[in-house]
Amino acid sequence: MNEPVDVLIIGAGASGAAVAWSLADTRMRILCLEQGDWVKPTDYPSNGRDWEARQLSDFHISPNVRRRPADYPVNDEASPIKVVNFNGVGGGTILYAGHFPRLHPSDFRVRSLDGVADDWPIDYATLEPWFALNDRMMGISGLAGDPAYPDKQPVMPPIPLGKTASRVGRGLNELGWHWWPADTAMATREYEGRAPCINLGHCIGGCAQGAKASTDITYWPQALRNRVQLRTRARVREITVGPDGMASGAVYLDAEGVEHFQPAGVVIMACNGVGTPRILLNSVSGRFPNGLANSSDQVGRNLMFHPYALVRGWFDDPLDGFHGPGISIWSQQFYETDPARGYVRGYTFQFNRGQAPVMAALTGMNNELIPWGDDHHRAFRAHFGNSASVMGICEDLPEAHNRVTLDPELRDGDGIPAPRISYTLSENSRRMLDHALARGSEALRAAGAREIVTEAPMAMAGWHLLGTARMGTDPERSVVNGWGRSHDVKNLFIVDGSVFVTSGGVNPTSTIQAIALYVADQIKQRLANLFD
Ligand SMILES: Cc1cc2nc3c(=O)[nH]c(=O)nc-3n(C[C@H](O)[C@H](O)[C@H](O)COP(=O)(O)OP(=O)(O)OC[C@H]3O[C@@H](n4cnc5c(N)ncnc54)[C@H](O)[C@@H]3O)c2cc1C
Ligand code: SF4
Repeated sequence: MNEPVDVLIIGAGASGAAVAWSLADTRMRILCLEQGDWVKPTDYPSNGRDWEARQLSDFHISPNVRRRPADYPVNDEASPIKVVNFNGVGGGTILYAGHFPRLHPSDFRVRSLDGVADDWPIDYATLEPWFALNDRMMGISGLAGDPAYPDKQPVMPPIPLGKTASRVGRGLNELGWHWWPADTAMATREYEGRAPCINLGHCIGGCAQGAKASTDITYWPQALRNRVQLRTRARVREITVGPDGMASGAVYLDAEGVEHFQPAGVVIMACNGVGTPRILLNSVSGRFPNGLANSSDQVGRNLMFHPYALVRGWFDDPLDGFHGPGISIWSQQFYETDPARGYVRGYTFQFNRGQAPVMAALTGMNNELIPWGDDHHRAFRAHFGNSASVMGICEDLPEAHNRVTLDPELRDGDGIPAPRISYTLSENSRRMLDHALARGSEALRAAGAREIVTEAPMAMAGWHLLGTARMGTDPERSVVNGWGRSHDVKNLFIVDGSVFVTSGGVNPTSTIQAIALYVADQIKQRLANLFD
């Protein structure tokens, strides 16, 4: 048996890294178990000329295509939106686009404002210091003064607008719509040992330059220097409970498939909105026959993805192509509820640069703009380097039937039941997507686009995994309390996107990490009476 630790963290991604770093100053014995490996920057696709092909194979965003030893399969056949992730030190931040908005103050109060879903037990003001600390730890670039947000101070200047965002920005000015340089997790100058972004545009697939803030190069090195232990290729099968009903540790399998038990005083789940409910549902005992921390039957329910509406346009003159981080500006013109639009809540527009050659060719062919045969090269030249796109990231409201369960047949390489996703788009989301497609097309046309194609919801876009172990004050309707502690099991915490009560209309990682830092601080403040 392994030596007992005080705190056991499961998952070394965005939230696991933040909570590990924060708790390190308590000098407790802290261990993180992560099913994946460290990824060497030299292994990133961007080091070779086949980088686009590798993003469609061993660095694919879908674990079902990538199928690395550390991946687990996900049965998402019953969902129009497919789960994407990365399993390794850094978690999803290895492959993420580094777009780094915060939830808005209104997102924490949707029941009060719009009569839907629930209010959060915490608010923006509570998280504000943790947003700011996380911005410093990750190294966030941006421009102060965005009227869509309360005051905040980015750490570095924004990424350059380039030709694409300048062009789109002029179109948005003509429409009189809000837009602002995006907060981005890319260093725009030397920062804490990280080199600045050199605009190569390979961000999804890993940044070999080290400009993109993945947690393997931000939080983890500092946490390890502060004596946190990180054990890789350690795939947790279940959390165990003692006779007192408290979590006692975890059973995990190493790279050779050998089973181990790791005893612990406190267990913190950080496996994301699919991985965490999967482990909890798999942790069945006499005391918790429906899965750990699941007396409310809420574990796995209320899965929220963010349906995406994509509009791509081609312009007459060259733009940036794929050079530079994808998203450089956002518009929050349609963020808050307007009953006249026929749906509640809203969305953010993220404006993107163009596509690299292989993706440009595939997109052109799928949309019948670039044929095979004689006309291929002419059509390719007419559609390469001159496109821009806008994505409407729509608020997804929680619904109990959208859920993660255990698949009765599918298993990972260690024989652990795989997650199954059941998800349908709501009528509210459908209407919001239609609105975003219409307004997104209007924005690109105002900027000068001549050909437009659309997709909604984007299929391979389940990158935000939220809501499956939500926070709340009522133990019958939520899994954890307002500071991440399980209502049922007092020494079990959850810090990943599972705890979101609602999804907001922005990418979640900034808020996920702010919550992880907040929960860590609460644990530190309450250590003396944590088990009362
Ligand atoms: C292609 C892509 C683009 C994205 N772009 C953005 C973006 O621009 N902005 C944004 O805000 N977000 C983006 N995201 C989402 C972002 O990556 C996630 O929100 C974030 O990483 C979630 O953090 P987390 O801590 O909840 O989980 P993760 O970062 O997913 O970490 C979970 C970790 O737990 C480990 N784990 C799971 N199960 C087990 C187990 N049984 N045993 C041991 N370890 C386990 C996993 O291996 C993983 O490393 C993107 C994601 C992808 C895939
Ligand atoms: S564009 Fe910048 S952030 Fe993206 S991969 Fe290149 S250096 Fe890294």
